[in-house]
Amino acid sequence: MIDSFGRNIDYMRISITDRCNLRCRYCMPDGVEWLPMEDILSYEEIGRVCRAAARLGIRHLKITGGEPLVRKGCPELIGSLKNIPGIEAVTITTNGILLEQHLDRLKLAGVDGINVSLDTLDRRQFADLTGFDRLDQVLSGIRRAVDAGFKVKVNAVSLKLDRDKDGSYGWERLAGLAREYPLDVRFIEMMPIGYGKQFETVDHQKLLEQMRQVFPDMEMDTAKHGFGPAVYYRVPGFQGSLGLISAIHGKFCGQCNRVRLTSTGYLKTCLCYEDGVDLRPVLRVADTGAEDGTESGCQELCRVMEQTIYGKPGAHCFEEPERITEGHNMSSIGG
Ligand code: SAM
Ligand code: SF4
Repeated sequence: MIDSFGRNIDYMRISITDRCNLRCRYCMPDGVEWLPMEDILSYEEIGRVCRAAARLGIRHLKITGGEPLVRKGCPELIGSLKNIPGIEAVTITTNGILLEQHLDRLKLAGVDGINVSLDTLDRRQFADLTGFDRLDQVLSGIRRAVDAGFKVKVNAVSLKLDRDKDGSYGWERLAGLAREYPLDVRFIEMMPIGYGKQFETVDHQKLLEQMRQVFPDMEMDTAKHGFGPAVYYRVPGFQGSLGLISAIHGKFCGQCNRVRLTSTGYLKTCLCYEDGVDLRPVLRVADTGAEDGTESGCQELCRVMEQTIYGKPGAHCFEEPERITEGHNMSSIGG
């Protein structure tokens, strides 16, 4: 659907749990408050929100968390969302810890893409950053996913890490994954949300300069890679592309196409603000059982969502921290 700024909103990220099996320092270093199960949307409720979203023009769903693969039945949820008329793609973002063991079920579910978050290839730095010495497990999940024919992207938050033992900066080694495997590696500017505020954002204009120095033959890649704001580059000899997602130094709010659904049913329209609506009262009071578009409860859900999405803010204000109203951590928003 078109919002009040004329943007086509066709993408919804869905956090299916706040819980996670890692403790990334910039996301949830101390874990999360244990929410009662009744506060979390059931898969049936998520399905209803997605059917209403599809009627409003949402075409791509991204399953996120916390860590989505820690919630039982995640691959089967993906399979059921793929059957919703109007939904063209359902993808997942995961930290990769449980990826290998879920690959068969994700294949069966027909997931359209797997994003694996991985910020460093240095084992010590990985353990320091995530709280767990599990780099090998993540890498094994990535390799097996590529071998099994999934469309894989590696997402790395750009962090000022120490030089690796071999003397190169972390991003160079991560970029090497796109040479070794047919996958895209995307670097993401840290956003001042939750614990992310305590980290310095790497300016992607500067990272781009470094990339051009290391890969002088690098060229813009204009092919469509997905549904998001990444700008891609091709390096001769690489099987995949390199991408930059630069929310701070390359503000792309004018092209923003997304909304977010938290695990507790809050429909959120911009990362920067608390703006949005709690859908639980609508989901739990109204009789939304029927899938027919004329059914009254479903119409009410559509109406509330449409009104909220229409009012999506025009731009974030990360450059003016005093105006940021979002107080939640990224783990409950889903990234
Ligand atoms: N656990 C899953 C994962 O790590 O992919 C899904 C949830 S996680 C919150 C989604 C993404 O948000 C991850 O790629 C993570 O690195 C990113 N993220 C977390 N905090 C961030 C921040 N302050 N700025 C930018 N990205 C952030
Ligand atoms: Fe967990 Fe993902 Fe947050 Fe890391 S970024 S703590 S893996 S939710």
